[in-house]
Amino acid sequence: MLQTIQAQLQPYHAQLIAVSKTKPDEAIMALYTLGQRAFGENYVQELVDKATTLPQDIEWHFIGHLQSNKVKYIAPFVHLIHTLDSISLLQEIEKQAIKHNRSIDCLLQIKINQEDTKFGIDTDAIDDFMHNIIAQNITHVRIVGVMGMATFTDDLQQVRKEFKQLKAVFTHLQTTYFSNNEAFKHISMGMSSDYTIALEEGSNMVRIGSLLFGERH
Ligand SMILES: *Cc1c(COP(=O)(O)O)cnc(C)c1O
Repeated sequence: MLQTIQAQLQPYHAQLIAVSKTKPDEAIMALYTLGQRAFGENYVQELVDKATTLPQDIEWHFIGHLQSNKVKYIAPFVHLIHTLDSISLLQEIEKQAIKHNRSIDCLLQIKINQEDTKFGIDTDAIDDFMHNIIAQNITHVRIVGVMGMATFTDDLQQVRKEFKQLKAVFTHLQTTYFSNNEAFKHISMGMSSDYTIALEEGSNMVRIGSLLFGERH
């Protein structure tokens, strides 16, 4: 399955994040042995446990909702945080990055779905959010793209519309705020059920769990 997905991603130059939440170390090692290095986790404690025992050259992506008081646990090693969606979280990541004398890469999580969650920046608040970021004088957090999750629905036209919207937000941010910043390039969208649509709509980073590891219980 890994090779099949890799072959589908190749024409799009998209990166695969293998979402290993709730899955045991052995399942991760099975993909590691095949060459996979980027893994995504949703829970801080689980991520810290796995990062401690598994090979050091794994790139750990944090893709779950991140509480400010837990940033300190992942700050020493996290490769990319996909879920930056508040200024207070940004300030805490900056603080912990300084403490660990490193720079931490983050994606802005944009709310594109119709669901009643409070996570993600509203699309109509994105410029205010950017102005707020600029006012913070951040030195140890790098904003390198956007992330979004489509509505959990069978209506694939709806899903496609939401991915188009995320791509449009990315393009707006790139031209308005990051025009001479090559690091701003990632569009993290697409999961097991919708990644082919996401690729067609401009994704260059997909987060796939159940298709690789089997259903979660
Ligand atoms: C669990 C999860 C995924 C992977 O979902 P699958 O349907 O198992 O591929 C991707 N992104 C996020 C944010 C997740 O929480």
